Amino acid sequence: MSKDDCIFCKIANGEIPSATVYEDSICRVILDVNPANKGHALVIPKEHYDDIFSMDADTASKIFTIATEVAKAQKAELNPDGLNIVQNNGEAAGQTVFHFHMHVIPRFIKDDVNIKWLPKKPEADELETLSKALRKRI
Ligand code: AMP
Ligand code: ZN
Repeated sequence: MSKDDCIFCKIANGEIPSATVYEDSICRVILDVNPANKGHALVIPKEHYDDIFSMDADTASKIFTIATEVAKAQKAELNPDGLNIVQNNGEAAGQTVFHFHMHVIPRFIKDDVNIKWLPKKPEADELETLSKALRKRI
């Protein structure tokens, strides 16, 4: 179902024109208007999902399959040195458009894209305790 006031619903369903790289019944892939790097693409499902928490596994797997094809097309066309897949959920994680989308970002040695974080040192039992708790929920 599409949301009337959602820009990515309108883009994904072709009501607003976009630099489209790929389209099928599930999703549209466009070039980001304010790219982190040349070729920065967004895989956008045609159906509205706010974020990953409301997305079903079948749609997610189709989106990721298309992202791999986009990555290979970028590799062939732009010859990047690397590539990031980024997918933000919630304001705390940097999401600004609240319709699920996956960023596919070509990377070049010494480019100015900044995705790295500061690694933390977990408490002694933290990984074991938390992995057991999470395991029960999957
Ligand atoms: P996020 O911060 O993960 O929600 O990413 C939103 C992305 O959408 C940003 O990289 C924006 O540059 C991009 N964006 C916003 N509006 C448009 C638009 N009309 N066409 C293409 N990309 C857009
Ligand atoms: Zn939407």
